[in-house]
Amino acid sequence: MRIMEIREMRVPLRGAVANAVVNFAEHDVSLVAVLAEIGGRRLAGIGFNSIGRFAQPGLLRERFIPRVLAAEPESFAGGPNGAADPAKVRDIAMRNEKPGGHGDRAAAVGALELAFWDLAAKAGEEPAWATIARHFGTTPHEQGCAVYAAGGYYYAPGDGMSLGDEMRGYVDRGFRAAKMKIGGASPAEDMARIEETVAVLGSPGQLAVDANGRFTPDEALARAAELDPLGLRWIEEMGDPLDYALNARLTGAVATPVATGENLFSRQDLANLLRFGGVRPGIDVFQMDAGLSYGLTDYAGMIADLEAAGHARDQAMPHGGHLINLHIVAGLGLGGCEAYPNVFLPFGGYAPQCRLDEGRIHPSDAPGFGLEQKPELAPLIDEITA
Ligand code: MG
Repeated sequence: MRIMEIREMRVPLRGAVANAVVNFAEHDVSLVAVLAEIGGRRLAGIGFNSIGRFAQPGLLRERFIPRVLAAEPESFAGGPNGAADPAKVRDIAMRNEKPGGHGDRAAAVGALELAFWDLAAKAGEEPAWATIARHFGTTPHEQGCAVYAAGGYYYAPGDGMSLGDEMRGYVDRGFRAAKMKIGGASPAEDMARIEETVAVLGSPGQLAVDANGRFTPDEALARAAELDPLGLRWIEEMGDPLDYALNARLTGAVATPVATGENLFSRQDLANLLRFGGVRPGIDVFQMDAGLSYGLTDYAGMIADLEAAGHARDQAMPHGGHLINLHIVAGLGLGGCEAYPNVFLPFGGYAPQCRLDEGRIHPSDAPGFGLEQKPELAPLIDEITA
């Protein structure tokens, strides 16, 4: 196994949308390619750093990629299928980094580490979920994964589209569950939007709502109390995601599952949530995202930490509706995944070869994460590997 080159490319998001806090029109993502020779074959491992934390070209090009390229090949040998060990690559990338203060470097290292998982799966000519399941000794979802459509944006009158139209489109495509934004309108308007969506989905238990951390603690508690009698699937990030005391007050006040985790970037962040956040075994939802938290090695560690604290892995539903997380959910046997139909392109959503029926999504047999099968990504992968 020899690494010849590691490249990074900044890719702007298309089909961008806004939630209650962030307009994604200015967002971008780092696409990473590891060009390597394994057993006489030239392979390219492709990864990216999920969605919502910007591209990290400086961190990758100036710190993390040079450290990996400078390492002796024996120092990262021993990974799946004769490829590099992603856990060792992650440790080499993190040499001389202080603990704590994870921030943007967690996304940069995540993109790099995930590219090595794609490479390892391609070295074994198998889909990444199979490599992941064998490596971690998990029982994968061989019959597809539960999936929900994450969307439910705000439409201005005259947009030519309504929330109901958006949701009917998801149901027509085979989704049975969905998530919508709240917090960008008055409580009365949001309640009307929720009723419109429940009418399309057929049951409040199929609908989750996400405030993207928009509310003050008092507002969060008040809104949660108003939403609780509806019997929604979950309420997500009502207040600041690092306010563990608020999370504990929310879980103590409502029967509805409370979801959080997409803004936790390390195992220690999760340890704090487990200690102080009042999360309920078998009820609440964990949304950590490997591409935002140092990659799959650390993410799998988080799942082990959850289970050690008495929670179940089917409470884990990662943030980030894209192919990498589909393979992670399938490989680790997690609760389900989200999908971003039509938005956050070229990364959001799945490839046409992934079959969706009756609320379950089936990965294709393409080697690795199958990113080359995604029409919006394929030209960028050609460019970065040329
Ligand atoms: Mg969210």
